[in-house]
Amino acid sequence: MSSKPENLTLITDDGLRLDGRRADEIRPMKIEIGVLSRADGSCYLEWGRNKILVGVFGPREAHPRRSQRADSAVIRYRYNMASFSVEDRARPGPSRRSIEISKVSREAFEPVIMAEMFPKTAIDIFVEVLQADAGTRTAAINASSVALADAGIPMKGLITSCAFGKVDGQIVLDLNKEEDNYGEADFPVAMTQDGEITLVQMDGNLTPEEIKKGLELVKKGCKEILAIQQAVLRKKFETPVEEVSEEP
Ligand code: UDP
Repeated sequence: MSSKPENLTLITDDGLRLDGRRADEIRPMKIEIGVLSRADGSCYLEWGRNKILVGVFGPREAHPRRSQRADSAVIRYRYNMASFSVEDRARPGPSRRSIEISKVSREAFEPVIMAEMFPKTAIDIFVEVLQADAGTRTAAINASSVALADAGIPMKGLITSCAFGKVDGQIVLDLNKEEDNYGEADFPVAMTQDGEITLVQMDGNLTPEEIKKGLELVKKGCKEILAIQQAVLRKKFETPVEEVSEEP
């Protein structure tokens, strides 16, 4: 978050944001499933100008062996930004930021992945951010959820993720890059299908009332995202029931 140029208005008097959205609207999202033939599950997701590719591998024998757990699978999540994904080239390799995002994203999935079914194995989630425009961690979580389901990993439900923030003094859903840069706060959230929160982070300052209002917006956003995730999974996995001709 940087200081905003004086003449920059992020929300007009009519309540419209720079990309034409209202406060409670998410950016357009498009999901493709099963895009990588060598992965057990995969997903390509576009959300506004974000472009994310996820490959899931496993459950497979965990290496090195000392990383194995006798009572469950280990879940590994690697968030990586391609160096060409941002305006100023991102330095290749892990950074403090990518290590932090990988950790909190893995923790966002741990409550739903039924890891105890697969002792001594690893479930690997590889995230590649191909184009970034704010909200990449939430976009990556939404894509990972679909890729895990595509891989057939048993889960108690899907995880859905969206951020809210404060821009020009107003609480808005799903910040884009300009809003993330010049806004006052950013608050990413991930939740289960039942609305149980599995990730919360906060950058900036918000009052308890603003957080309450933001969480209501996030719930609405996550509901819309869940519907998109479910639709793409249904399309792939629901086999049409053949009509049974009645006996004469
Ligand atoms: N960003 C960047 N260079 C970096 C890291 C981030 O240009 O090294 C941009 C990128 O567009 C990213 C945005 O800043 O989406 C916001 O980053 P943040 O750390 O808030 O994470 P995100 O919102 O992507 O989860």
